[in-house]
This record gives sequence, structure tokens and C-alpha cells, in this order.
Amino acid sequence: MPETRLKVVLLEKSPHPTAMTATAARTCYSANEPAVIAARWAQRPDDMRRTVNRVRAAGHHSTLEHNIYVFGISGLSRAATHQLVRHRHLQFDQQSQRYMAFKDADFPYIKPRRLTALPEMSARFDRLMREIGETYQALLAAGLPSEDARFVLPNAAASQLIVSGNARAWYEFLTLRTCNMAQWEIREMAFEVLRILKREDPVLFADAGATCVRGYCREPDGPRCPRYIAVAKSQLDAAAKAGVWLAERNAAKARRIGQSPSADDES
Ligand SMILES: Cc1cc2nc3c(=O)[nH]c(=O)nc-3n(C[C@H](O)[C@H](O)[C@H](O)COP(=O)(O)OP(=O)(O)OC[C@H]3O[C@@H](n4cnc5c(N)ncnc54)[C@H](O)[C@@H]3O)c2cc1C
Repeated sequence: MPETRLKVVLLEKSPHPTAMTATAARTCYSANEPAVIAARWAQRPDDMRRTVNRVRAAGHHSTLEHNIYVFGISGLSRAATHQLVRHRHLQFDQQSQRYMAFKDADFPYIKPRRLTALPEMSARFDRLMREIGETYQALLAAGLPSEDARFVLPNAAASQLIVSGNARAWYEFLTLRTCNMAQWEIREMAFEVLRILKREDPVLFADAGATCVRGYCREPDGPRCPRYIAVAKSQLDAAAKAGVWLAERNAAKARRIGQSPSADDES
């Protein structure tokens, strides 16, 4: 077997994430009980959207934490799952190479797409996977348990896992892993998750993604990234707005001073 492909499926989610976040946000500032607040959003969708946009933009992200999303992910290499499980606010259950032995020499694996430009290397890669699979089967046949036979399996071996997390944890994950600096495979997985979350809850995840989506970049190599142009534009826009604001403020101040009877005394 074979080369296999990434699949990302949303298995479960909280029923009303946008309303839940709006309820959490409003509870902080309202005398009403949470149940009363929650019951009102259906009649006030614009208010709900505004409330969520405001807390999200202000970074009050604890209000996102009340919503859970559970994904089923398959066709991800062990190289990528090793990176994925570094995200400590996500929860994982991963196919075990101890309890699940591959049944024949053709174990599923991921092949980097860049190899398609190098047909000879690509064929060599496939031959090596086959050889590894045969050695793996030989070790099992010789009586080794799969927990030992798996030592020959490569980083390319495909895995599958359930990953759950609250909206804040996914938001943080997407910030790091949809960035162009992230490794291509986990970035593809992150973009799949991003597409699904944006489709499911567009208000909650409106500005989810790498920091450049929100107009800044912390990567030292940022200016070399093709997406950096968006950051530069956003910063120029922000600077232009700040310039207008400053000029208006100075003009208003000058008018106030001119009108103030005590202005001469003060100067
Ligand atoms: C482009 C890229 C390159 C990378 N390269 C490497 C590499 O070469 N080597 C390597 O080992 N890793 C590497 N990583 C992994 C990286 O170091 C993180 O382990 C991973 O991205 C998870 O990020 P996190 O710790 O911020 O996330 P999470 O574990 O999900 O935590 C989210 C946030 O919670 C807070 N938090 C979580 N735990 C704690 C804690 N114990 N104390 C205080 N605050 C906490 C922090 O604010 C943190 O940002 C790389 C990641 C990226 C995106």
C-alpha cells in the first residue's frame, strides 16, 4: 500500500458555540442570569455577532473555551503527529503501534509531494518503504511483539487519531500551524481544520489563522514570506489611520486652546 492521503473530519462539536461565547461574554457585564442571557440571542443575532467580535478582537479568549470540537484525522505521518501532540491544550487518542500491527508488508505511509519532481528518488522511496514493511513482517513472524517490530517503522508511517480541543486551543493551534513557517504536512492539516471551523462557526473563527491574518508577524524571517505583503499593507493602513487620528486630535486641541479664556495664562 501504499501511499495514503490526509483526511480530516469534524466528528463532534458543541451545539451553539457562537451563542455560548456571547453568553459567556455578556455574563461578565450583565445583571441578568446566564440562562436569561442565553435565551435572548435567537432574537438578537446582530448583537450576538457584535459581542463575539468584540471579545475576540480584545483578546478575551477565555470566552471561547466553553466550546469543544472533536476531529478524526487519518493519513497523517508520524512525523506530523509528533508535532501535533506538542499542543498541550489539545487532547489526543492515537492509533497504537503496540496494539495494532500492520498486517502485511504494504503499510500505509505518507510521501512528500516534492518527490513527484524527482521520479527516481520517488521510486527509491517506495522501494525502501516496501523493504521496511518486509523486515517489519519478518520480525513479527520471528515472534517479536509489534511493540518491538515497530522500531523499524519510519517517520513516514501513517497514523490516525482523535483530537479534541476547545475553540481557544484550536485558535492557538491555527495561529502557529497555518503560518508559512510551519512544516507543510501539519500546515495542510491545520488548513483543513481552519476551513471546517470557519464553515461551521464563521463569527467565532473570523480572524483565525496565522498572525498575518490579524496584521502582524512575529517570525524573524517574516519579511521573506509571500504572505508578509498582507502584514505590510495592514501596518501601512494602521499607520495612515493613526496619522489621521493624530492630526484630528491636534487640530481639536488647538481649537480648544484657542477658545479657552485661560489659554494665554497657561502658555
Ligand atoms: C514553525 C515551528 C517550528 C518549530 N520548531 C520546533 C523545533 O525545532 N523543536 C521543538 O522542540 N519544537 C518546535 N516547534 C514546536 C513549538 O516549540 C511548540 O512546542 C508547539 O508549537 C506548541 O506550541 P505552544 O507550546 O505555544 O502550544 P500549547 O502547548 O498548545 O500551549 C498554548 C499556550 O499555552 C501557554 N502554555 C502552555 N503550557 C504552558 C506552560 N507549561 N507554562 C506556561 N504557559 C504555558 C503558552 O502561552 C502557550 O503558547 C515548532 C513549532 C512551530 C510552529
